[in-house]
Amino acid sequence: MAADAPRSNFIRQIIDKDLASGKHSQVHTRFPPEPNGFLHIGHAKSIVLNFGIAEDYQGTCNLRFDDTNPLKEKVDFVNSIQEDVRWLGYDWEGKPRYSSNYFDQLHGFAVELIEKGLAYVDFSTQEAMREMRGTLKEPGVNSPYRDTSVEENLKHFADMTAGKYEEGTAALRAKIDMSSPFMVLRDPVIYRVRFAHHHQTGDKWCVYPMYDFTHCISDALEGITHSLCTLEFQDNRRLYDWVLDNISIDCHPQQIEFSRLNLQYTVMSKRKLHLLVEEGKVSGWDDPRMPTIAGMRRRGYTPSSVREFCHRIGVTKMDNQVEMSMLEACIRDELNHGAPRAMAVIDPVRLVIENYPEGEVEQLQAPNHPNDDSMGTRELPFAREIYIEREDFRESANKKYKRLVLDKEVRLRNAYVVKAERVEKDADGNITTIFCTYDPDTLGKDPADGRKVKGVIHWVAAEHAKPAEFRLYDRLFQVPNPAAEEDFFSTLNPDSLVVKQGYVEPGMATAKAEQPFQFERIGYFCADNQDSSAKQLVFNQTVGLRDTWNDEA
Ligand code: ATP
Ligand code: MG
Repeated sequence: MAADAPRSNFIRQIIDKDLASGKHSQVHTRFPPEPNGFLHIGHAKSIVLNFGIAEDYQGTCNLRFDDTNPLKEKVDFVNSIQEDVRWLGYDWEGKPRYSSNYFDQLHGFAVELIEKGLAYVDFSTQEAMREMRGTLKEPGVNSPYRDTSVEENLKHFADMTAGKYEEGTAALRAKIDMSSPFMVLRDPVIYRVRFAHHHQTGDKWCVYPMYDFTHCISDALEGITHSLCTLEFQDNRRLYDWVLDNISIDCHPQQIEFSRLNLQYTVMSKRKLHLLVEEGKVSGWDDPRMPTIAGMRRRGYTPSSVREFCHRIGVTKMDNQVEMSMLEACIRDELNHGAPRAMAVIDPVRLVIENYPEGEVEQLQAPNHPNDDSMGTRELPFAREIYIEREDFRESANKKYKRLVLDKEVRLRNAYVVKAERVEKDADGNITTIFCTYDPDTLGKDPADGRKVKGVIHWVAAEHAKPAEFRLYDRLFQVPNPAAEEDFFSTLNPDSLVVKQGYVEPGMATAKAEQPFQFERIGYFCADNQDSSAKQLVFNQTVGLRDTWNDEA
């Protein structure tokens, strides 16, 4: 299990009080995803909250699939969700739960409500029901089926369950109050007809319980103490409590709402994420530009960095939009300390050291981390021909440019000082080779005569380096709140993915997928967990070395 330092919030304060007063002696939470898509960073907030509380209070947190809508749910999503929760560092006791495990009991409770005169089968059309519901300003109107006798309702519900009614022609409604100021209490539908195959229960049912009816009962059946959900369920709490107050069940969990995470420059609703996948705007749910757990993992985020982000944003009742720089700071802080360094050239130009003996190769020693000797060293081959970054050379430049300039010197990282002597160009005027000389007396030390060489650039040995593809990612959308746009596709960033072909130092050939590195002077990268192989190395940029979000604003 993930062990992070607990940080207080208003929910933990409620729990502390409940434990102190003896209302509860044990804390039991749950994370209840609907398996209709991959988990995203917003879900991570809920996971870290629910599993984190269970961990800190030595309680339990269930993973429960809220699977009442078979048309939209898939086993693939059930599997990806389990994988993502585990990856984040959490586990649940025993098997994952499913709301569908309780379909028999739920059906029984629906019958109990009918028997108590608290539920009725409505044959009104959906349109008529909508009209009778009223508005926030006007009360609703009672359905003509509202006062059907208990016996008739029992028969109608049995018929519904037996498949005698078409979809949309009959629904079971709770009989609460058509003039309630809370729309959710205006005789909400609690069961509907759906002739659909369910991924867990197969073809057993043709009636399915609605979310609001299912959720509270599932919580109670599992002995949940604190049922944490997002703010949009605030009104639904009245229904949550009404259902539990009116059925024969001993447990009554407390629903507590907190604000959902919104992250700038991306979308979080599964419906919109689905569209991005279906329309091919991204390569899949795990595209590294997606705010999904699987996408972030593929991009190089670590479980601890995602948890740290969830801790830093905290848990409140205030709705807001979190800046992307806050998420990136979490991974950058972690990798700055923990990621080994390596060299890669993503836009290579050839550099030949003319006074270096042809055919000679030296194995230089390079530290894996500049400030942490415990991370050890590695061997770097050095030879007469190397690659450097095209943007690290200019034929002429002012003093601010601390890289290689014609007739000037620069240090090759972990190696010697070189001086640019001349260049060779192609017919279009592009530089094809930079010819240099090197000072053999500058390995690991400054030039003997006191010359100052300020600039340092990275490089790889041409013959030893491995070709690699680099995928550089930028924000997926061009506007901070794409969800607010009428056509959110139109705000997609056309440059959210830039692919470069370059080289990495030879040791990178065996880099494991998802293992983070800092490519010196470029950014943090990891080998792609789908497309990188010994034959074709592919590296994803996790994040740049510095925060550029605010520079660009
Ligand atoms: P979406 O609108 O993206 O489909 P959802 O709330 O319908 O999200 P569920 O699978 O039902 O998705 O969510 C499971 C749990 O995760 C719920 O308790 C929900 O409140 C929580 N959750 C979902 N999105 C966020 C978010 N952006 N921030 C915090 N918690 C979230
Ligand atoms: Mg939902």
